[in-house]
Amino acid sequence: MATNNRVPKEDRFLCPGCGSVMANMQECHLVCGNCGLQLDCNDKGWFW
Ligand SMILES: [Zn+2]
Repeated sequence: MATNNRVPKEDRFLCPGCGSVMANMQECHLVCGNCGLQLDCNDKGWFW
């Protein structure tokens, strides 16, 4: 049985700058741990 549910996919977003997985700091605030790029609700229209 597959029980590897430790990474919820709905909380993972790929950085548009470098392609790394971004950390979901808040509901509308993502920060890339690799290049530092940040996204918020204002960017949602083109990214999400
Ligand atoms: Zn990045």
